[in-house]
Amino acid sequence: MKIAVVGTGYVGLVTGTCFAEVGIDVTCIDIDQRKIDNLHQGILPIYEPGLEEMVSRNVAAGRLHFSTKLSEAIKDCDVAFIAVGTPPGEDGSADLKYVLGVAREIGENMTNYGVIVTKSTVPVGTAAKVRKEITDALAKRGEAIDFDVASNPEFLKEGAAIDDFLKPDRIVVGVASERAEEVMTKLYKPFLLNGHPIIFMDIPSAEMTKYAANSMLATKISFMNDIANLCEIMGADVNMVRKGIGSDARIGTKFIYPGIGYGGSCFPKDVKALIKTAQENGYQMQVLQAVESVNDAQKEVLFDKVKKHFGGELQGKKMAVWGLSFKPKTDDMREAPSLVIIEKLLAEGCTVTAYDPVAMPEAKHSLGDTITYAKDQMEALIDADALLIVTEWPEFRVPNFEVMSRLLKQKVIFDGRNIYDAAELQEAGFAYHCIGIRTAH
Ligand code: NAD
Repeated sequence: MKIAVVGTGYVGLVTGTCFAEVGIDVTCIDIDQRKIDNLHQGILPIYEPGLEEMVSRNVAAGRLHFSTKLSEAIKDCDVAFIAVGTPPGEDGSADLKYVLGVAREIGENMTNYGVIVTKSTVPVGTAAKVRKEITDALAKRGEAIDFDVASNPEFLKEGAAIDDFLKPDRIVVGVASERAEEVMTKLYKPFLLNGHPIIFMDIPSAEMTKYAANSMLATKISFMNDIANLCEIMGADVNMVRKGIGSDARIGTKFIYPGIGYGGSCFPKDVKALIKTAQENGYQMQVLQAVESVNDAQKEVLFDKVKKHFGGELQGKKMAVWGLSFKPKTDDMREAPSLVIIEKLLAEGCTVTAYDPVAMPEAKHSLGDTITYAKDQMEALIDADALLIVTEWPEFRVPNFEVMSRLLKQKVIFDGRNIYDAAELQEAGFAYHCIGIRTAH
């Protein structure tokens, strides 16, 4: 089979590389010439564990190609994936201009039957718009090439994307013809061999499934953060409560960790987009509206604790921040809670020195030189009045607290991810603040 994947971001590059890994001929396309030039030299536009090796292996094997020319790559393709961004528009709805632009270009250049698949997260009804763009473009050419559209939302998690793609919990595909189902079954067959299920459904249901999945996950996070905040007020320990409820199989242990709110390129925009879709169709997503407002407030919780601890006197304080990316094992800074916290610290007159194992180059695009970037996690602590744990990278979990005591000016830790043991730190003389547990200082 021969396929094209349009968009070489977190989703497109992982998708294309994983299909190449199972022997399929793949061309990854991007409009960004610099990204494609870099990919030709083995430089990836994103950080994703294991991806660099997999890309170079498949390029060397002659199965994975990169190009800016969709017009050439689309020729003789069996399947073309659209994996470009769908950022939120000003009103919160998903902006489809990139997706529909690619659809038009496909229609202008396709030469044979193929399945055009939206992998980008798109609202219900988008596949129909994709079909129309392609049909209109073909009509302009005076061509009537047969094609199908399909919806194949992506569920990978940044930081574990390769494993998620190769061993998916499920593959969801929305189709409107048997022929498209056959092509998609053939394409995904290598990933199904170990019992990973493929679920075929109608196209609108597939489009909605992605939003429902992300909205459910965001709901779990906001729900748990709400419970955590109440635990703190009432003197309960959210870690205990989490274990207590997680042991109920109907609730489960995953995704019920309290913290400083969800970020990233997906949950915030997808929750917003679903709220907007509902509004446009005369319905209110009341739960999701609450999920969003709890999350907005939660991103400020750590800052509020800092302010309270220092009695509102933050002018001139030096703050160390560990972790900038919205979650560990990615360099993705989109909607990261760190941005909200740092902005508030700077506005109060603090100076900030941050360390992140991989996201600092990406963070510089938004934070520039408003903060200092440390070369390692310990350097960030030198003479700092407090440490804020913002992202729970594994290397932050068991640090040398003795060394930390010596480097910090004041032994104060604000842990937005609850990665330390409160009793242990208090015994070591730290003032320790975390989420959902009332700690003595
Ligand atoms: P991204 O911003 O990392 O990558 C998008 C890429 O598309 C960019 O490299 C951009 O240059 C390219 N592009 C834009 N217009 C183009 C065009 N006309 N032709 C060719 N390339 C073009 O985005 P992403 O994080 O990979 O997300 C892509 C889609 O997948 C979004 O809809 C997102 O919601 C969805 N999604 C993302 C994730 C995730 O974890 N990042 C997971 C599941 C689904």
